[in-house]
Amino acid sequence: MTSPLCPVCGSSLGIGSSKPFPTLSCAQCGWDWGAVLRRDSPTRRGADAAFLKQLPSGAEAQYIFPKAFQVPAPRQLVWTRRMTGAVIALLATACFFAWTAMARASTGETFVPAVLMVLSGWLTLMLSIPLITQWSNRTLLCSGDVTAGRVIHEAIVPRGRQTYSVIFYAFADAAGRGFIGRGTDYSGTLAVGAPIVVYYDASNPAENVAAECTTFELRAS
Ligand SMILES: [Zn+2]
Repeated sequence: MTSPLCPVCGSSLGIGSSKPFPTLSCAQCGWDWGAVLRRDSPTRRGADAAFLKQLPSGAEAQYIFPKAFQVPAPRQLVWTRRMTGAVIALLATACFFAWTAMARASTGETFVPAVLMVLSGWLTLMLSIPLITQWSNRTLLCSGDVTAGRVIHEAIVPRGRQTYSVIFYAFADAAGRGFIGRGTDYSGTLAVGAPIVVYYDASNPAENVAAECTTFELRAS
């Protein structure tokens, strides 16, 4: 497996870890994935030629992802089953809360409605946590710039008894500067070399998300 390349100097990147997540850094020029995210890394130069060469060309990107580049911003999100489930669970929690309060005022038998309230409250949390933690991705998906990148590194990270795939992907912004994004592959389908669609903040491309790395979905047209 080839090592991921530094966006600035094209050297092979070192793979480290800031638990539990893997991270990348360049021993040659000092580029560091975490430092770029904190905006204290000097990456304001053009990208390295070898780094850019690994990215899908414009024509290749149009061919692989014809729809991704056609939908003009602001793009619309798909209303997913998770969102419907979260709303229903929240409404149920409110109903059970009201039932508990009424039972307390009249019969005093609050056990059943209180248990139902806790269960539906728990379900609401489980369904909405991935939506809330990814709230910032909505803006990127809807109004960020879009480009094609490529998966350059994959790491399997343990979480409890399960594992999940963390990917790093290379992309360039409209000005030709190279960036590396990191995310969880929710699709479970990506591997090193896979082309992907990346949405990024044009004013700070270190803020970016790949289409497979979010639980939000964009409408195709
Ligand atoms: Zn470097």
